[in-house]
Amino acid sequence: MGRLLSFALFQALGALFGWWFSRSFMSLADPTWAPMLLCALVSSYFWHVLDVALAMRVLRWLNSADMLQAPVSFGLWGEISDRVRRLARSRERAVQQRDSRFQDFLAAMQASPNGVVLLDRDLRIEWFNQSAQSHFGLEGTRDLFQHFGNLVRDPGFAAYLATADFQSDVLMPGRASTTAKPVRLSVHMHPYGEGRKLLLSRDVTAVEQAEAMRRDFVANVSHEIRTPLTVLSGFVETLQSLNLSEQERVRYLDLMAQQAERMQSLVSDLLTLSRLEGSPLPSAQEWVPMAPVFEHCRQEVTELSRVLWGQAQGLYFEVAPDIAIAGSSTELHSALLNLIGNAARYTPEGKSIFVNWRAQADGGAEFSVRDEGVGIAAEHIARLTERFYRVDRSRSRETGGTGLGLAIVKHVAQRHGAELSIASTPGQGSTFTVRFPASRVRLPAEPISAHSGAPASTSAIAAA
Ligand code: ADP
Repeated sequence: MGRLLSFALFQALGALFGWWFSRSFMSLADPTWAPMLLCALVSSYFWHVLDVALAMRVLRWLNSADMLQAPVSFGLWGEISDRVRRLARSRERAVQQRDSRFQDFLAAMQASPNGVVLLDRDLRIEWFNQSAQSHFGLEGTRDLFQHFGNLVRDPGFAAYLATADFQSDVLMPGRASTTAKPVRLSVHMHPYGEGRKLLLSRDVTAVEQAEAMRRDFVANVSHEIRTPLTVLSGFVETLQSLNLSEQERVRYLDLMAQQAERMQSLVSDLLTLSRLEGSPLPSAQEWVPMAPVFEHCRQEVTELSRVLWGQAQGLYFEVAPDIAIAGSSTELHSALLNLIGNAARYTPEGKSIFVNWRAQADGGAEFSVRDEGVGIAAEHIARLTERFYRVDRSRSRETGGTGLGLAIVKHVAQRHGAELSIASTPGQGSTFTVRFPASRVRLPAEPISAHSGAPASTSAIAAA
């Protein structure tokens, strides 16, 4: 409507101009229609020229990349360019939103601990994330559009690709896998889209190790239980089938009791371990005064030492009073008893054991158990805390060992934020030390000086 009006206005103005011109310059008495018509035609021609110029401007603007500012602000072309500008802007916003969602999605895929590789229909790499990069040793742009099978040449994986049966996963070593530090990957291909494949990889090293440990553990436990059980059933058979003298019967029953006791200690240690693994961390608010715990252990180990060696072992305790540890008294007692018990069991008669509990200059505290026993060769030390690891199997069994004592000590130490360290010289003796951090230790009110290694009071017993 506006456009028609402007056209009519132009023509009317032209006609008016023709009328004025004919009157003023052509000396015509009466204006004729001819100059008016001519001027109206000329002005409509100008109107069209102007219109085409505006159209050209809008066209140029449409072809340009910058759609932010409309080139014309009035009339039909102004309206058209404004609508186009608004449309372009909303499209641009939609594209930006889509782009940012896509970037978020890619970032999420990058953050995934699992490897993700997108493959085209010819198994060429289109995209991969950082985990896939480290799992398969892929590299930035170098490996893009390479055939995945050419880069990952594990025979198991090659067979998996060849059979093209992607119902299950395949296990293979990771790129960084070495004999000392194996890395196992579970790789699964998922077809999607038109012939494309999504390859997912997962580091299952820890899972496999845990599974292997579980298998070993069950085998070890069965073995440990089977031995005394076989002996027991042998004795039972003997008692049932043979006519034994009273003396022999008592001896056999004693031996049976020993085997039953062995099984009992094994089950008890297993239960302790499973409690340590399954229960929440010991409280950091419950303070356990350690002196009574040491006293308790001293009594128990004195008894053990008497049973094992008669009166011939020296047991010396130096226990600083009033130091408390935040944690569980049962666990601390169990760890301590295991260490002092081991010292008693692996130290021959005539030799001594020294137990020390003292504060440290940094606010922590440590207990150490030093013996003059058989000692341990260096190559065994790192493995001593493994379950059922023994240096001398027969000695451990003879003295009632289960092979779980140091595993329990290590667990208890870890649960209290403490550290177990072992130093030993074969033939000369060993020292087992557990250091507690200041955060778990409550010292007596008096501050402890840097040289306060010596205990405030000392209790010593010499069983020898
Ligand atoms: P065990 O019940 O067999 O003693 P542990 O886990 O307590 O099991 O100890 C593991 C092994 O470490 C023992 O079998 C023993 O060979 C060695 N061991 C532990 N403590 C001592 C020690 N004080 N002196 C020498 N060897 C030790």
